[in-house]
Amino acid sequence: MDADILIIGAGISGSVLAERYANLDKKVLILEKRNHIGGNCYDFIDENGILISKYGAHLFHTNDEEVWDYVNRFAIWYPWEHKVIAKVDGQLVPIPINIATVNKLFNLSISNEEEMKQWLEDNRINYENPKNGEEAVLNKVGKILYEKMFKHYTKKQWNKYPEELAASVLNRIPVRHDFDDRYFSDKYQALPVGGYTKLFENLLKHPNITVHLNTDYFDVKDSLGNFEKIFYSGPIDRFFDFKYSASEKLEYRSINFVPETIDKEFYQENSVVNYPGQEVDFTRIVEYKHFGNQKSKKTTIVKEYTTDEGEPYYPVLNDRNLKIYERYKQESVNHPNIHFVGRLANYKYFNMDEAFKNALAVFKSVATYQSELAKI
Ligand code: UDP
Repeated sequence: MDADILIIGAGISGSVLAERYANLDKKVLILEKRNHIGGNCYDFIDENGILISKYGAHLFHTNDEEVWDYVNRFAIWYPWEHKVIAKVDGQLVPIPINIATVNKLFNLSISNEEEMKQWLEDNRINYENPKNGEEAVLNKVGKILYEKMFKHYTKKQWNKYPEELAASVLNRIPVRHDFDDRYFSDKYQALPVGGYTKLFENLLKHPNITVHLNTDYFDVKDSLGNFEKIFYSGPIDRFFDFKYSASEKLEYRSINFVPETIDKEFYQENSVVNYPGQEVDFTRIVEYKHFGNQKSKKTTIVKEYTTDEGEPYYPVLNDRNLKIYERYKQESVNHPNIHFVGRLANYKYFNMDEAFKNALAVFKSVATYQSELAKI
């Protein structure tokens, strides 16, 4: 097929770039390996009539006005402040850790910020510059909460202990000095009415965009014509045929999602319950019905077991992998017409809003039609 722009992958990055270029009057071809659009945001109505996400819960949150304006052009969003509870020592407690978490686990009656700060001060272990995930958590909350809530969850999630991961991974979870039990603190926290797949349909519905599903770029690349530009959103090592992997394999983490129908109205009291202990192998149970207060007779729960095998979802951020990634990144300089976008091609732990931001930024820096950019 004749197209000006070739995009590999129909997730956030590929779909945003397709939409942008289509509106610049460019013909866009997207090749998507899977049988659906939306990448890991893909959701659908399951046999119980519940909107569920195939690849884990996706909670949109951002402080970025440009991203928020952009996503509002393709979906109606309803406010949704995500909360997570964790099952610790048989009790359900809020995570991120807040006053209620500490009170419940240690049978205390902390009532204000000052007392909470004092409790943390008495328990934390000071690290000036935490150099890994363990030090980052110890520095914030100390040993007991580290053991109860982070150490084994992290081992299950990454098959690595926090000390084997960058501090940034564990620093994703804040510590609260008040009773705020929201998972995120961003200004905009919302879910798209009807789900993410609809949002992607809207992003991709321009007549200049053609999507070929079930098409692996690497199977067809020799039969493709020439393109002005190519955007690649798959794993960067795959692009370079894993050339360094004999000695240094770039690690990704995948998730095995195990759904179950439960013949009652609700299974658990919250959309997500984390299991940070060693008593079970899964990391969390998601009950999708809670999102948007959906109604149905039965309910669907999904247990998440992380694995090394399978679709790559998470880059495993530590010094070793970042060094290997740098080697691949340097190779990309030899391909000036190919632009690497998104979580897997940049080996970055992007949240959804960061993926939108990255794609919009790549578009702005790569599009050579600056005069036309102002028009869309
Ligand atoms: N984490 C943890 N216990 C929890 C929740 C998170 O130890 O109950 C750690 C774990 O290492 C996890 C990281 O914090 O991988 C980031 O958590 P987040 O919820 O942001 O992960 P995601 O939702 O992307 O899987």
